[in-house]
Amino acid sequence: MPTPEYHAKKSPSSAHRWIHCPASIKLSAGIPTTTSQYAEAGRLAHSIAELKARKRFLVLNKRTYNAQLKKLQADEHYAPEMDGYTDLYVETLEQHAMTFQSAPFIALETSVPIGLFTSENKEDGTPATGTADCIQIAESVLWVTDYKNGAGVPVEADHNPQMMTYALGALSMYALIYGDSIQTIRLTIVQPALKSVSDWEISRGALEEWGHDILTPAAVRADSEDPGDPFPGDWCRFCPIKNQCRERANKVLAVEAFGKKLPPLLSDAEVGQALQQADGLVSWYNDLKEYALQSCLAGKQIAGFKAVEGKKSRDWDNLDTAFADLQQHGVAEALLWERKPATVAGLEKAIGKKTFAEVSAGHVTVSPGKPTLVPESDKRPEFNAAAQAFNPIN
Ligand code: SF4
Repeated sequence: MPTPEYHAKKSPSSAHRWIHCPASIKLSAGIPTTTSQYAEAGRLAHSIAELKARKRFLVLNKRTYNAQLKKLQADEHYAPEMDGYTDLYVETLEQHAMTFQSAPFIALETSVPIGLFTSENKEDGTPATGTADCIQIAESVLWVTDYKNGAGVPVEADHNPQMMTYALGALSMYALIYGDSIQTIRLTIVQPALKSVSDWEISRGALEEWGHDILTPAAVRADSEDPGDPFPGDWCRFCPIKNQCRERANKVLAVEAFGKKLPPLLSDAEVGQALQQADGLVSWYNDLKEYALQSCLAGKQIAGFKAVEGKKSRDWDNLDTAFADLQQHGVAEALLWERKPATVAGLEKAIGKKTFAEVSAGHVTVSPGKPTLVPESDKRPEFNAAAQAFNPIN
């Protein structure tokens, strides 16, 4: 099973942040890491994914597999859709394996020495490690695959620093066996909740160049006396000090002065510019509010604010007894129970994607989504109102 106890300071999963903002490593040192329901669900889904992959590719007898799966499914964070999600992960690994002419070498949940590239050692002096979900090696190819359980932001494999760091670690770990025979690196991120399988390929030379020119210098800078000023960007989202970081606050609060002598109405170009500048404002404000609330609850003073009790909620003390009493007092049963149809998404979540697809065939309609504003870099095609008007509803 995955062993997540050890976390490198300059971890692959936070590499996107510290490569852009090396200062964040020292500034966040000592801040306790918190976990969330989503993180726990992700950990559990990883364990299920690993178990299924072990059964498919390595030696694991059916009895042990069933017993371990049952145990994982009894976990409080288990959700039925995890079964379909982890099946997709194993199917993707199978497809990768089948692209080779002979069976590849496969390693699951493997610690790779990333510290060789991030200039970090463990307490025992050995290089810091990161855990790669699946590594396949055959015919001059090293293929690293990562499972992501989240449904929040889609994660692309293209130039993904986390995946590139794992690949560098894997290359060095298997160098004794494979030498220079590995020349092509493939990276895949399977994110079933968003129906996404993202692939990217890079040559060994280009990967090592990135490690040498980008990764290691950022890591060395992060540890240096002068790691530079904090540098805010979309990587702040997962920074441990994102609530209090002054540079982040400065960035989101900075408003360009549109000169008084200019026309009273903003041009479309200025609207775009203002939207880009305000990017991150809402999430920063929400982070700050949450930080202030927790501080007030902990007895600290946040100037101009205090914590109060929110709206009260009422509930039955004992549903069975309360309803029996109410019926005795003449309240009709039909008034006591509301019957609501399950939503498509809700039922799919409850019974799992696979079963849902089997039993709901022909009963689900899909209506076009509402137009929404996104940055130009978004991969979805531009909304075409004319085409939508002539599209029949599926
Ligand atoms: S919040 Fe952003 S700018 Fe501030 S230290 Fe963290 S990553 Fe750097």
